Amino acid sequence: MLDYRKDIDNLPVYDVVERDWNIKVNANESGWNLPPLVEERVLSSLSRIAFNRYPNTEPEDLSEIIAKRFGLQKENVWLGNGSSEIIDKIFYAFGGEGHKIVYMQPSFSMYPICVKSADAEGIAVPLDDDYKFNAEKFIEAVKSQKASLAVVCNPNNPTGGLIPVEDIEKIAKEIDCAFLVDEAYVEFAGKKASAVSLMSKYPHLMVARTFSKAFGLAAIRVGYLLADKDIISTVGKVFKPYYLNVLSTVVASVVMQMYDEFDPRIEMVISERDRMYEEFLSLPGVKVYPSDTNFLLLRYDKAKELNERLLNYGIGVRSFGNAPMLDNCLRISIGTPEENNAVMKAIRNFAEGR
Ligand SMILES: *Cc1c(COP(=O)(O)O)cnc(C)c1O
Repeated sequence: MLDYRKDIDNLPVYDVVERDWNIKVNANESGWNLPPLVEERVLSSLSRIAFNRYPNTEPEDLSEIIAKRFGLQKENVWLGNGSSEIIDKIFYAFGGEGHKIVYMQPSFSMYPICVKSADAEGIAVPLDDDYKFNAEKFIEAVKSQKASLAVVCNPNNPTGGLIPVEDIEKIAKEIDCAFLVDEAYVEFAGKKASAVSLMSKYPHLMVARTFSKAFGLAAIRVGYLLADKDIISTVGKVFKPYYLNVLSTVVASVVMQMYDEFDPRIEMVISERDRMYEEFLSLPGVKVYPSDTNFLLLRYDKAKELNERLLNYGIGVRSFGNAPMLDNCLRISIGTPEENNAVMKAIRNFAEGR
């Protein structure tokens, strides 16, 4: 008999439909592979790897490069296999029996999964009408539940909305438990959106970032945590030795040093997003939510039928099954202008009854 650990059967799974799409706009990836100049440096850096050795100083070098970029010390940086791993380990580190983790709803579908695998109790705070974030309500939940960890996704996946940094500061001021800001999409929200500058004033505030979205490195699985050095050294204990592979570490180091090469693409995504937003506004029956990310969330009575039409064209968008507060919603990532045009045309045709 296979005698699994308790409760593993009840662990929710991250459900995405994957196949060989013609147009893949379901996972908020970048529509472009690496810029040619970056790719060239990446490839030449790989030829210098000592494949026979366990990772040596490479992770530390990457931490140093990241720290410099944010005006921090390398002791303030922790690396992960995607920020998903960072998030999972933070939930673990602040979780366990009797510990409560507060997050917003709807938000990143991994949070409830991480809560469960951390053996913690999840408290989901619903967003207000039109997915507006209510800081007072969030603070109240954290305090009244005596939470050990509060998590906000900013800007939020899948709704796209941005919490002003003033509200992040208000939360940091009012609560004294660990406070994680998941900034997976912050590069699309303008220079002032990040909470990183608040860290020196509020040592319980942590920021998680990823290379998967704005930097188009979803394949290599690297993310990082910026936090107080005492938090880093404690959270660091739940990672195993040599957990991060040198290939990914070296690639991320090259990319971090060539950060500015990505600016034109980020600008392009932002302008494409705004263009698509305006177009969606004009579609009959379709509601589109303002976004500070690289995707748009639509609500549409015929979302299910629309999704089927898109599937027939080989266009992959994200639907949410019966996830709370996301009935009839579809999330569409911003791709290249050609991809966006094709997606828009398909949706417009459907909405206009063609
Ligand atoms: C995509 C995403 C991440 C992290 O992705 P990784 O590829 O694991 O770095 C984290 N948080 C949110 C909200 C995301 O959408």
